[in-house]
Amino acid sequence: MAPADLAPPTMRDVLDARRLLAPHLDPTPARTYPALDRATGVRVVVKHENLQPTGAFKVRGALNLLLRLTPEDRARGVTAFSTGNHAQAVAHAARTARAACTVVMPTDPNPTKAAAVRDLGARLVLAGTTFDDAREHATALAADDGSRLVSAANEPLLVAGVATAYVELLEHAPDLDVLVVPVGGGSGAAAACLVARAVAPGLEVVAVQSSASPAAHDSWRAGQPVSRPNTSRAEGLATGTGFDLTQAVLREHLDDFVLVDDDAIDRAAALYLTAVRTVAEGAGAAALAAVLADPARFAGRRVGVVCSGGNASPAELRRVCAHLPR
Ligand SMILES: *Cc1c(COP(=O)(O)O)cnc(C)c1O
Repeated sequence: MAPADLAPPTMRDVLDARRLLAPHLDPTPARTYPALDRATGVRVVVKHENLQPTGAFKVRGALNLLLRLTPEDRARGVTAFSTGNHAQAVAHAARTARAACTVVMPTDPNPTKAAAVRDLGARLVLAGTTFDDAREHATALAADDGSRLVSAANEPLLVAGVATAYVELLEHAPDLDVLVVPVGGGSGAAAACLVARAVAPGLEVVAVQSSASPAAHDSWRAGQPVSRPNTSRAEGLATGTGFDLTQAVLREHLDDFVLVDDDAIDRAAALYLTAVRTVAEGAGAAALAAVLADPARFAGRRVGVVCSGGNASPAELRRVCAHLPR
């Protein structure tokens, strides 16, 4: 079990987040595309979290957390660690909530994401080679300067904020049979599970991670958080350990957890370009990659896939374009 202060959010917390976020974020579209259905052989509904102001869903959670900080906490500021999208989300929310913000990213970050963090006015510190190194550095920094450390997943308010995406999706498409959600720290998948269990009990929730960074997947299968090699090119999926809060929710509610490899993710990102006219970063394309990897499983069902983010680096875009049809 997660420690008591890491109790998962309730549906009431999710609806409270929805009310708080409404003036700050427009609902994102959920759309169908005949070309995508033809390419996959599945009836797909794409939830376009790539259209958030920060280009990824995480801003929902960060705003829900930062807007609830006490004036004292705001004055002390916040520190986050991230490969990029959590960083942008916290930086964006800190600007909205008028809190000082420090972000620790691994050295050699996705330049698109690092630039966005600076543009949002946060202090950017580059430390360590992986997400897990950045986490250690940020923890030490926050202990030193008294700022509030904002974890990428062990935060009930983040999960509650992220869950608003799934309320929107199920309002739009209440007849979904399956929902496929990409996983790094697990906030998105945990949020999807909590909403599905509350309002759509028959909805199957399937999580997906990269086989090059399988910590969340392996933690779920093992029944306890484990550490694993962490080499996925898809930064949003690249975590080396399972997080207690989200793992506890996934253990209780998740139906299945699959792995896809990074090349399959690139092919799915290429399909987003051609069939959906959408730039998806690797993590944002992973749910579609899982559908492409197992068409028999999804055939004849209405499948929600979360396009969780669109912040692809220039190098990533060049690589994905190599998969475009001639
Ligand atoms: C963070 C992220 C994920 C994974 O979400 P978690 O809540 O950490 O599991 C997926 N896609 C994108 C684009 C992300 O930024």
